[in-house]
Amino acid sequence: MPPADYSVRGSVAAITFSNPPMNTMAHALRVALRERLQQAFADPAVRAVVLIGAGRAFCAGAEIREFDSPLSVASPNLRELIALIESSAKPVVAAIHGFAMGGGLEFAMGCHYRVAAPAAQLALPEVKLGLLPGAGGTQRLPRALGAERALGMIVSGDPIEARSAAGTALVDAVVEGDLLDGAIAFAEALLAQNRPLRRLRDLAVNVANPGFFARERERLAAAHRGLPAPVKCVDAVEAAARLAFDEGVKFERRCFDELLAGGESKALRHAFFGERAVTKIPGIPEDTRIREIRSAAVVGAGTMGGGIAMAFANAGIPVKLLEANPEALDKGMAAIRRNYAATVARGKLTQAEMDKRIARISTTLAYTALRDADIAIEAVFEDLQVKKQVFTVLDDVMKADAILATNTSTLDVDAIAASTTRPQAVIGTHFFSPANVMRLLEIVRGAKTSNETLASVMKLAKMLGKTGVVSGVCDGFIGNRMVERYLQQAFFLLDEGALPQQVDRALQDWGMAMGPFAMSDLAGNDIGWHIRKRRAIERPEFAYSKIPDRLCELGRFGQKTGSGFYRYETGSRAPVPDPVVDKLIEDYRAEARITPRTIADGEIVERCIFALINEGARILEEGIALRAVDIDIVYLAGYGFPRYRGGPMFFADTVGLGNVIAAMEKYRKGYHGECWTPATLLAKLCAEDKAFT
Ligand code: NAD
Repeated sequence: MPPADYSVRGSVAAITFSNPPMNTMAHALRVALRERLQQAFADPAVRAVVLIGAGRAFCAGAEIREFDSPLSVASPNLRELIALIESSAKPVVAAIHGFAMGGGLEFAMGCHYRVAAPAAQLALPEVKLGLLPGAGGTQRLPRALGAERALGMIVSGDPIEARSAAGTALVDAVVEGDLLDGAIAFAEALLAQNRPLRRLRDLAVNVANPGFFARERERLAAAHRGLPAPVKCVDAVEAAARLAFDEGVKFERRCFDELLAGGESKALRHAFFGERAVTKIPGIPEDTRIREIRSAAVVGAGTMGGGIAMAFANAGIPVKLLEANPEALDKGMAAIRRNYAATVARGKLTQAEMDKRIARISTTLAYTALRDADIAIEAVFEDLQVKKQVFTVLDDVMKADAILATNTSTLDVDAIAASTTRPQAVIGTHFFSPANVMRLLEIVRGAKTSNETLASVMKLAKMLGKTGVVSGVCDGFIGNRMVERYLQQAFFLLDEGALPQQVDRALQDWGMAMGPFAMSDLAGNDIGWHIRKRRAIERPEFAYSKIPDRLCELGRFGQKTGSGFYRYETGSRAPVPDPVVDKLIEDYRAEARITPRTIADGEIVERCIFALINEGARILEEGIALRAVDIDIVYLAGYGFPRYRGGPMFFADTVGLGNVIAAMEKYRKGYHGECWTPATLLAKLCAEDKAFT
């Protein structure tokens, strides 16, 4: 199919444009559209024009492959195409099906009229990349929908269905049957009724409530700390109401350029492209055979096993859950039911849907019942011997081409694989708790894991709605290995003079979804305690504050015991600072003869975040992570790292690696300064004036 096909029916020209799969506005398409539009305007037989997308969509917006390349702005740009349509003496009708997103919707709004399939999705999602619509979208949409509704769409970036805008100037008619036929009939009717050309730019902006802009600005500034785009969207929509159209467009352009050059949008674009980049694994050919996962087995119905079974059930995949004894199985199923029931109680799931999902989970005590599953995921106790036994049995009973996966957080996947006769089919699937909710899935590739197993599990991640990131084998993989260094600093800060609530607030103000102490209380302080006991034997050089151990000795494991670094009221997850903890910290400092000092928030943030970066650099130099962006996506999807800072490695680049190293040198002179030796890769990149991303 050529980029734009031209045909004439009666007195209406139909331009069917195509850039599969989503008709994004690549430069070649814009050139073809200009040619076809000029042809139609010059064709004496043609009195009206219909624009329709081929295939699945009208147009999904800018071509991301051209982002940041000269082609993205090469003539004709989108604004020039829209100007061409608006200057036409013949009416142009956009016929919208599938999606009209971003630049695609701006293009449609440049047409004189729009007709749409009822369920077509219309959106201006630029805010999700830290931008605003830059081709008149903030000026035309308020003229079509009124300022309030338009701003709602622009600041959320979320789509609306065409039928919900029927009768507004955004959707002049909803077409139930064949869209092209309907659009041509609409154009014929325009001609028959001699309807005037209507340009959105000529309409007035309806503002129902004058206090609206100020209120929205305040609300959005509070809701999106650190992100300028949402408030800029308000400014631009207000400009549409305040200024003449051409002035408003200029104002929009200035806002767009400012946002495009700003760090937040760069970080959000890094995150957006990163999520796509991590799905591509170097060295794995496109045509690698993918094993379809139509059914699954989960061994162990504890916290993780239950959540993993729910993740499968939620994705429509039947799953068998195996336990060591009937009591544990009943307990596991009861927890699953409770979890689903809570979601139903919150109105997020219907009872009927809950029943369907639960029906996809069957239980068993017999390994032979798992035989036909395409994948078995082991989630038993974190004990190498127990896991090896489970894998030996799985290897024995599972069908020959089944994948065997382990949910271990710290154990050696290669050692587990060695207990089977099919190490090529063994892989780590490191889910995060709660496994049915958390988006991140670390996919741990063992020394012998085959391309086919890896590619199949990457595909499975997508089916489960997870962000799969590949990690090599090491203690803690990417995410937890780094978080250990982050927590190490957070704990040292307590020794030196800070309190948990100060550290948490400093990091939350900086943008982390949750501070390290609230996070530890949520995950369970006993997990780290257990690991530190092992460390004392395996890696005695790994220094720790003693404060978290003292806390655990009191049984303060966090939310699950009602107290940890904070205390928790019954039934509440809100951390309440606890004088008992303050006293424990003070006593420890006295005992260790540490004179506490006042610690600035800036130091807290630098020490915790730079510790993450330094360990990230080691993970990269060891080849545990394939690329810096994989580390960033782990932190964005699994650890509440602020998206507008792009992830730890991207953030390091924005700070400048020289500045990161200089700060580390400064901390090297302080408390437990031995932690601050810069990673070889960090020092090397800095010396070569290079960056991680
Ligand atoms: P858990 O103690 O809640 O559950 C383990 C379950 O396995 C128990 O129900 C137990 O009865 C069952 N089990 C033990 N041996 C078994 C056997 N031989 N056969 C069948 N069932 C057996 O533990 P969990 O928190 O769900 O952790 C499970 C695994 O997931 C561990 O490897 C852990 O390191 C890992 N993990 C845990 C988390 C977390 O946050 N809890 C996060 C990621 C990974």
